[in-house]
Amino acid sequence: MGPALSIPALASLTTMQVGGVPKSITKCESTNDLYEAAKAAWLSDEPFQILGGGSNTVFADEVAHLNIILVANLGKEIVFEDDQKAIVRVQSGESWDELVAWAVEHNLAGIEAMSGIPGSVGATPVQNVGGYGQEVSQVITQIEFLDASTHEVEIKPASFFKFSYRDSALKHDLKGVIGWVEFELQKLGGLSVPMASGQITNHVGAEYGSALPLKVVRDTVIELRSSKGMVVRLDDPDSVSCGSFFTNPVVSFSKSLEFPDEMQKWEMESGDVKLSAGWLIENAGIPKGYSIPGSKAAISNKHALAITNRGGAKAEEIVQLAVLIQERVAARWGINLIPEPNLIGF
Ligand SMILES: Cc1cc2nc3c(=O)[nH]c(=O)nc-3n(C[C@H](O)[C@H](O)[C@H](O)COP(=O)(O)OP(=O)(O)OC[C@H]3O[C@@H](n4cnc5c(N)ncnc54)[C@H](O)[C@@H]3O)c2cc1C
Repeated sequence: MGPALSIPALASLTTMQVGGVPKSITKCESTNDLYEAAKAAWLSDEPFQILGGGSNTVFADEVAHLNIILVANLGKEIVFEDDQKAIVRVQSGESWDELVAWAVEHNLAGIEAMSGIPGSVGATPVQNVGGYGQEVSQVITQIEFLDASTHEVEIKPASFFKFSYRDSALKHDLKGVIGWVEFELQKLGGLSVPMASGQITNHVGAEYGSALPLKVVRDTVIELRSSKGMVVRLDDPDSVSCGSFFTNPVVSFSKSLEFPDEMQKWEMESGDVKLSAGWLIENAGIPKGYSIPGSKAAISNKHALAITNRGGAKAEEIVQLAVLIQERVAARWGINLIPEPNLIGF
């Protein structure tokens, strides 16, 4: 028998790079392994956490009680195709951004504006991942799901997951494991779907709502994201984060009128209005780059919504900064900012 392999700290498995050494890590390289590991965990009394790419999870420094189920099932296949569309079934452990790159390369439209988002495919339904005018709920057809309440594996339609802005039933009462996700992508002769992001169309001098070459959309989004530290890069300390640490608060139309016009606001289909959390933070007196004196956690220099680890931060320091931001924004604007990442073990 060789030497026992040591269990790595969760800092090494998360983009925020914080988190202690867990009790165990079970790497699941097939959907079957994933489902079996989850069922065993539900039957035991021990706490556990499912982990994909670790880009939306902040673990506490002390997690010695926690078992980790690491999602690593790979593979994708086109399960249906005609002249107009392709339906692609993708295993949970696949990289989301590699899927987007593959779709762009194969002239399949519908996810191009979500280029550069880190993490796994299986995590994208959890918070209905989105960016630059697209959300995964627009293209998900069905999901294979192991339901914690029944221990049955079933193929569920997208509607089962009750998607809304950065939200799904999986962030509330629905507990279970996603084995694979199916996406319906369109064949538009190398063009994107109509772009619902002024940032993209302005950047290339096109009209809002135009379809652009898929590669142009991908390159533009990665360029825009990089300028905000929103692409994980080894050479960018501002990307040692979970992306946006808070969701943009959604308020009623009448409430939105209480906020100054200079703040960017987005009217939603529901009639409610999404406010800019970054603006609220900066206008509560917390500038980009801000850090509590002596702390190794800081607001990104490029984006007021991202909390970053400036090297060797403790999870505790990340959370202290998050709480300070919440308190200042609540005091100045009367808005409770809701953290976007999963905070585990605090
Ligand atoms: C630089 C940066 C930029 C980002 N930009 C965006 C953005 O523009 N838009 C956006 O929406 N998000 C963004 N994010 C957040 C993050 O990338 C997404 O939420 C991503 O989908 C998380 O994937 P993951 O595999 O890393 O999830 P993890 O952090 O590993 O897990 C997230 C949650 O999903 C659960 N989970 C993971 N896999 C499964 C599964 N197979 N079955 C059931 N539950 C599962 C976990 O238990 C956890 O609760 C950004 C993050 C970073 C670091």
